[in-house]
Amino acid sequence: MHLLILGGIGEALQLASALASMHTVTYSVAGKGRIPALSGVAVRVGGFGGVEGLAAFLREQCIELLIDATHPYAAQISQNAALAARLTGVSWWAYRRPAWQLEPGEKGCSVADWAGIMTALREFQRPFFTIGLEPLRHIAEIPLNQHWLVRCLAAEPPASSRLALLCATGPFSLDQELALFRDYRIDVLVAKNSGGRAVEAKLIAARQLKIPVVMLERPALPAADREFTTVEALVAALWNVKISDAADTIPHVPYCTDRTPEIPPVE
Ligand code: NAP
Repeated sequence: MHLLILGGIGEALQLASALASMHTVTYSVAGKGRIPALSGVAVRVGGFGGVEGLAAFLREQCIELLIDATHPYAAQISQNAALAARLTGVSWWAYRRPAWQLEPGEKGCSVADWAGIMTALREFQRPFFTIGLEPLRHIAEIPLNQHWLVRCLAAEPPASSRLALLCATGPFSLDQELALFRDYRIDVLVAKNSGGRAVEAKLIAARQLKIPVVMLERPALPAADREFTTVEALVAALWNVKISDAADTIPHVPYCTDRTPEIPPVE
């Protein structure tokens, strides 16, 4: 079976590697970060050109199953996947990372947007932003009593003495994160609810230091034919599945279920 995996996160690479021995796998990345080298997997780089472009690719390459394993905040490509799958009749599955959960008694809140972040930060002086470039677009809004630390992959140094920019690529260790929080005297963390082990060290550091977290809510994503919250469950579900025969019987599994989906009968 020919699979197209929409990637961009670590688990997508694990999926591609695990499935390559059983199926023909094409792995697609947007091309904004590192281009992976995957043994036995065709890697394609760059956008498809919207829904129509993705649908054309699915047809041309005779893709039988589309797997969305993109980042939870990459909402556009997931929408495109849903629509292209509908246009072409190709089945589409999704790997959805479980969200980070605050523990009982832990301080923090979820906010929907930038305005929500600014409101939640009113009582703090030294926020640490890990939500990409967005804070750099709001330098003029830094309150006089605040100093911001912004960590992102790459950006131009800002012209403000009340903002420090750290350009760095993770993953970061817990010790690195603890040192950063202490060195910059951070009193609140602003983060996406990305989920996944690679980015959780900062959240564990905040938990250990009892620093509150302002979490930017995840965007709504379209429901796939089947959804999985572990790589293992998705790989297990593909063991011996022939999608062209099984497509009509694929049940929808609701978002963020932790149960292992039923494995369809072996042909
Ligand atoms: P996005 O807003 O959902 O997508 C923007 C456009 O990028 C899409 O319309 C598509 O272009 C192209 N694209 C995205 N993912 C692609 C893929 N896997 N293969 C081919 N084209 C893709 O995505 P984003 O937030 O800019 O993120 C870009 C990539 O980085 C995603 O693959 C995501 O998994 C990864 N990533 C994102 C974040 C985040 O916080 N957003 C964090 C870590 C990794 P066309 O319309 O031309 O097809």
